[in-house]
Amino acid sequence: MKKKLLALFTIVALILGFQGFTALAKNNQSQKESSQPIAVQGAMDMEISALLKKMGEYKEETHGSYTFYRGKINGIPVIVSRTEVGMVHAAASTTLLIEKYHPKAIINQGTAGGHDPKLHVFDTVIGTEVMNIGRFITDHRDDGEGMKPESWKFDGTGMRENGELKTYETFKSDPKLVKAALSVADKYKHGKVVKGKVGSADVWNREVDRIQWFHEKAGTSVEEMEAASVGQVSKSYDVPYLSIRTVSNSEVSGDKIEDLETAGKYGAEFSVEIVKAIGKK
Ligand code: SAH
Repeated sequence: MKKKLLALFTIVALILGFQGFTALAKNNQSQKESSQPIAVQGAMDMEISALLKKMGEYKEETHGSYTFYRGKINGIPVIVSRTEVGMVHAAASTTLLIEKYHPKAIINQGTAGGHDPKLHVFDTVIGTEVMNIGRFITDHRDDGEGMKPESWKFDGTGMRENGELKTYETFKSDPKLVKAALSVADKYKHGKVVKGKVGSADVWNREVDRIQWFHEKAGTSVEEMEAASVGQVSKSYDVPYLSIRTVSNSEVSGDKIEDLETAGKYGAEFSVEIVKAIGKK
């Protein structure tokens, strides 16, 4: 009888111990997550200055030629990253960001050119997916046959996953981050907030036919020069990613405005609201 009681007691103690251990592990995990910063990127000063202003105090750190600003917004650890302009800069600085600061989420935000004629300057796009619109493969044409950009085909990006190459046409923003952004859409007062597809390349397109071609063939809402790079590197490390872009110019909406400074400020201010929404959870 004594032996049986002892055995029972040991089993109960083991179960309680195990539960205690998993609770501790869970607690550690959530503590780790709450101390991990939310990263917000902008390519240019005009796209991050409103975030720095909101942080007030921050520590500036440089790796290579990339600058990172460590601080807090409403008590939430935030790292603001100036990626510089273009795809290679965006990829390099995102790799550094992940390796050095282990963010729990990356928001890539800033200005963009409209592809959708319904989008006006200062409207903001929540990029549910991002696409490299500078990656093509062309058919063969003989010497003297000329160039036919409209016949170029988009080429996917190969990502190695568990040793196998998988091709991606686009990279998706994290659905929870998209939801968080949508939850504060009413706080944006300078235009509408819509979901859309963001196209990235090291090109600034002003040819209306070409812009319409992208919009029709690729379904892009806007174009810019960083999001797809960041989406790609984030995917590689499995870090939740979100693309946010405020229209600063459009050749197809009829707006005669090109104002990166103001759009950059509006976008960064909206990103502050998104950080607060993510940080709440
Ligand atoms: N010539 C300056 C300004 C670059 S503007 C420089 O090199 O510093 C390009 C930046 O604005 C990119 O970061 C890009 O993401 C964004 N952008 C805004 N509108 C754009 C458009 N219509 N096409 C491409 N990029 C655009």
